[in-house]
Amino acid sequence: MCGIVAYTGSKSCQHLLLEGLKRLEYRGYDSAGIATIENGRIRVVKTVGRVANLEDKLEEVGGLRGTIGMCHTRWATHGGVTDPNAHPHTDDRAGICLIHNGIIENYAALKTYLQEKGHTFSSDTDTEVLAMLIGELYDGDLEAAVQAALREVTGAYGIVVMCEREPDTLVAARKGSPLMVGVGDGEFIIASDGSAIVSHTSQAFALEDYQVVKVTPTGFRTSTIHNVPVTPKVQQLEIELEEIELGGFSHFMQKEIFEQPKALANTFRGRIDAKEGKVVLGGVATLAKELIRARRTILLGQGTALHAAMIGEYMLEDLAKIGAVAEYASEFRYRNPIIEEGTVAIAVSQSGETADTLAALLEAKERGALALGVINVVGSTIARETDAGVYLRVGPEIGVASTKAFVGQVAVLTLLALWWARRRQMSADQCAEMLRHLETVPEKIERILAQDAQIRRVTEKYVERENWLFLGRGYNYPTALEGALKLKEISYIHAEGMPAAEMKHGPIALINDGMPAVFIANRGRQYDKVMSNIAEVKARGGHVIAVATEGDTQIAKHAHDVLYIPDIPEALSPMLAVVPLQLMAYHAAVLRGHDVDKPRNLAKSVTVE
Ligand code: GLU
Repeated sequence: MCGIVAYTGSKSCQHLLLEGLKRLEYRGYDSAGIATIENGRIRVVKTVGRVANLEDKLEEVGGLRGTIGMCHTRWATHGGVTDPNAHPHTDDRAGICLIHNGIIENYAALKTYLQEKGHTFSSDTDTEVLAMLIGELYDGDLEAAVQAALREVTGAYGIVVMCEREPDTLVAARKGSPLMVGVGDGEFIIASDGSAIVSHTSQAFALEDYQVVKVTPTGFRTSTIHNVPVTPKVQQLEIELEEIELGGFSHFMQKEIFEQPKALANTFRGRIDAKEGKVVLGGVATLAKELIRARRTILLGQGTALHAAMIGEYMLEDLAKIGAVAEYASEFRYRNPIIEEGTVAIAVSQSGETADTLAALLEAKERGALALGVINVVGSTIARETDAGVYLRVGPEIGVASTKAFVGQVAVLTLLALWWARRRQMSADQCAEMLRHLETVPEKIERILAQDAQIRRVTEKYVERENWLFLGRGYNYPTALEGALKLKEISYIHAEGMPAAEMKHGPIALINDGMPAVFIANRGRQYDKVMSNIAEVKARGGHVIAVATEGDTQIAKHAHDVLYIPDIPEALSPMLAVVPLQLMAYHAAVLRGHDVDKPRNLAKSVTVE
């Protein structure tokens, strides 16, 4: 879930490990820890709180030496946020040390078994159970002990293990929780994300599920947990350092909001032929026949990705005239869904590692659906599980609260809907017109970003309020959900998003004097209805902040504050309307003094169910 960095080579590695861990800080975590082997003994330093707290603690103990080591940021699942529960964990017999991302689901049964064998535990985590199990099975060969232990385990893991008796060896393995191995010259770095590797080496390979790698400074060996040898593909890491650094911005979230025009231009590059009214999507070309004949689509996601999927649902029905439904992947997966012939499941996930979305996609595939992916991270697990897909190409997203990936997802779903529409019933002229509008989105977002100071001023007026409503209709109902989610995620203000019409069916009872209600009230089919909803809120003392279309001279009479977005066809408007909401959430968090890039309790890519 969070961060893993490990090293074996000839350098003293404490500094290098911490530097890597800092690159992963954005993922969100509650504790941090580090271990090295020094003169044949494992030394562990760990603490709740930030990597900075770990550095203080390291200074107190005079630092760790050693040319092999591992470090971890924990996002607690089993056991509270305490020093003993932080990773690394050690066993009580064989000198084993382990870090783990994920969940060992059968930890309770394993723990009972190990306790009966006389092992004593010093944490409440599922992870310590795995360290003990490896120790129990250790018989002079760490790789074999890890393989044997993992054959007993159910759940998700990315682990790195080392052992006092093999003091230059790291063994790592994965199931469901990503791990990459960076291949240097006489040294190796294993990390849960390429961004912790790229400043040392650009050559790396990803471990696949149920694979184990044994690494020493002189080489590596990969196999399955059943010890069948496998040959990994060492590849060039596609990450530029500047993409994972702040540049002149205060926070990654802010940087990524402002990067959106450039990111979308990348998403569109080579895919739009506005002259011919054609969308070119290489990633789905091989399945064109099956897709054109498809009868139904199911869009699967969680959180922000689900909101993008909901906009996709509207577009697929409205533009491509193909049945569509967007669903929480977590609910879809367990509700025994009916998949008819001709169904296409579309997984939407920034990381391509979201456990719920992956499981739902596999369920849909199992029942005969064709699987498509709308993913940002190239080569990620979901991307590999799909039959075809379209990458976002918005670059690495580091801010925990997703922004550029959201507009990227909506943009790709728009391309997909138009690709489908053109092949089913839309004329070249109609498609060309939509594409011409689509191409204006980056420049129009730029114009909204130029109003940043005004958006901050409006946010300042309401930032003390603890309850907000976000309301929209049609295409911008999901935008309202996304606006509310952004505010919750980083400013911890309670916010609810809903269809504007739904308010009357209960939530209107919440409205009291001065309660901020953000309406997405751009020009569109339901403009008049939204205006009636605005009147209902005002009549009850609520304060209306409207996101409206430039040139709408009426709205200022009805709303307390108006944020304007450029005109665009309604289907494309969520990509614009969301931008002021992202900025409001950002400013609210900053004004409230929160750490925008490390929001409490959140993790960037949710690889547990
Ligand atoms: N389940 C483990 C724990 O709670 C690992 C959590 C993580 O992925 O950071 O300690």
